[in-house]
Amino acid sequence: MGYNLSSRSMKNLEGVDANLVEVVQLAIQLSKQDFMVLEGVRSREQCMVNYGNGRTVAQCTAKGIPAKYAQPKLNKVTWLNNPFSSKHCYGKAVDLVPYPIDWNTLSKFDEIAKAMFQAAKQLGVPIRWGADWNSNGRPREKGETDSPHFEI
Ligand SMILES: [Zn+2]
Repeated sequence: MGYNLSSRSMKNLEGVDANLVEVVQLAIQLSKQDFMVLEGVRSREQCMVNYGNGRTVAQCTAKGIPAKYAQPKLNKVTWLNNPFSSKHCYGKAVDLVPYPIDWNTLSKFDEIAKAMFQAAKQLGVPIRWGADWNSNGRPREKGETDSPHFEI
């Protein structure tokens, strides 16, 4: 039973914290919903690109991000105050999406989360889910919009 990680998912886990990788590897076996690893480690470069989206030169330089990354006309992709505070920048986070890719069926993300929390418990690795930041068991309260995101 269970699914297996694709080679693309394995590649996207490169450089991710070993404990988190273990959780993902167990979760794919427990999960009723197949999933893929969309992103793991985010390079420093990519963190700067993301921060620049939807921000002006002044907003970027105020945070030490070179002006060339400022793309005020693009949609914002991160609301972080610190461009490098995402746990992706340190290999402590992964984004998991249902496979075949489906962004709209939230119940599929819930199945993935169920498997992730089950795996995390079995391995004794505490994790947080982007759809339940305060870990109160009530997903998608105000500001809890990052269903693919898991971090340690
Ligand atoms: Zn994420």
